[in-house]
Amino acid sequence: MNRTSECLFQEARQVIAGGVNSPVRAFGSVRSLPRFIQRASGSKIYDTDGREYIDYVLSWGPMILGHGHPRVVDAIRTAAEKGTSYGAPTELETSMGILIKEAFPAIELMRMVSSGTEATMSAIRLARGYTGKDKIVKFDGCYHGHADSLLVKAGSGVVTYGIPGSPGVPAALAALTFSLPFNDIEAFEETIALQGNDIACVIVEPVPGNMGVVLPEPGFLERIRELTAKNGILLIFDEVITGFRLTYGGYQTMKGIVPDLTCLGKIIGGGLPVGAFGGRKEIMDCLAPTGPVYQAGTLSGNPLAMAAGFATLKMLKELRKEYDSLNKKAEYLCREIKLLFDKRGFPVTLNQSGSLFTPFFTSDRVTDLISAQKSDTGFFIRFFQGMMERGIYLAPSAFEAVFLSFAHTTSDIEKTVEMMEDTLNHL
Ligand SMILES: *Cc1c(COP(=O)(O)O)cnc(C)c1O
Repeated sequence: MNRTSECLFQEARQVIAGGVNSPVRAFGSVRSLPRFIQRASGSKIYDTDGREYIDYVLSWGPMILGHGHPRVVDAIRTAAEKGTSYGAPTELETSMGILIKEAFPAIELMRMVSSGTEATMSAIRLARGYTGKDKIVKFDGCYHGHADSLLVKAGSGVVTYGIPGSPGVPAALAALTFSLPFNDIEAFEETIALQGNDIACVIVEPVPGNMGVVLPEPGFLERIRELTAKNGILLIFDEVITGFRLTYGGYQTMKGIVPDLTCLGKIIGGGLPVGAFGGRKEIMDCLAPTGPVYQAGTLSGNPLAMAAGFATLKMLKELRKEYDSLNKKAEYLCREIKLLFDKRGFPVTLNQSGSLFTPFFTSDRVTDLISAQKSDTGFFIRFFQGMMERGIYLAPSAFEAVFLSFAHTTSDIEKTVEMMEDTLNHL
């Protein structure tokens, strides 16, 4: 008999701070205990208590092919047999780079790193080094990893746990970060008018997924592109979630907006620790060893991580015509959710982009962090617990996205709708 999640969590808390290695995993905000996972396969995840769930977290985004895709697992196994790290370049890093560059024409040169946090942190340093300016602009509720400069009014676990900033981030550093309401072009124009000369870069999730999914209003990102270009400010698209999620490429390739730098992560690692940042050659050439801006990593471009990432991207390239049907599954789920909620008079607003969506438990439009926070978190807790009891694994926060994978079948989706109906009947 396996030990229960409850027992394992208790044990974990004796050795790991808070019992988890990333805060939202603790399920604290949903007044539940984390499930300890034993294994996962396709669209399913299994806990040590012997329960099976349809997984809509997908490791917070990376597993777009589903868990344990045989081609990805084979690639990792084959790579492992040749040694797991060399600290020297390999051909695979270039092959991976070529695939990314094909899909993201704005990325002329790139660097591989080991997480999304490293990608955004390095991109910000590079932007500061390149422009010789210190201030940066981000948007409330966007999450760009946990580097000091970016933990100002951030999303993800920061909003889930209601932490406005983080102790430990020096005030002097936080003062260099302006955080503005997403979709508020006037606030942006005003900031540029007043501070434009001191701003190195603007970093944005083109479709924010870390305050729940929020869509950019028509023209918002285009106007940001226009104003940043005019003022010598670099535009950084953080496509750590959206990269290879909405299409084979990024939001930028769908919309034809060309950022100066792009950050990637999650999907490009195929479930192994990978991030990447890249952009215009002229900017990337400022990085050491070509230029003076320092950035490095013992495990950057790690052969196992590159093997998993390369296998994933190759597979996705073959599947690129199938994104439509993946996205349609999300559309279908959203329609069904809306029907189920409307029938009972429960307020819900669905924001969807490709295979990403968030049901906000409010009847108002959700266009930024303030409106996202109108979602009824008490209702979310009961909804979340009901779904978990019925074998549907959702992110333990009202401010995260639901992720779908190519492995989710029509019967998974049907079962999810059925379980949701039952959950709502018991609320
Ligand atoms: C997850 C995420 C990050 C951070 O990536 P890690 O691999 O967790 O460090 C950065 N930006 C966005 C948009 C993310 O969703």
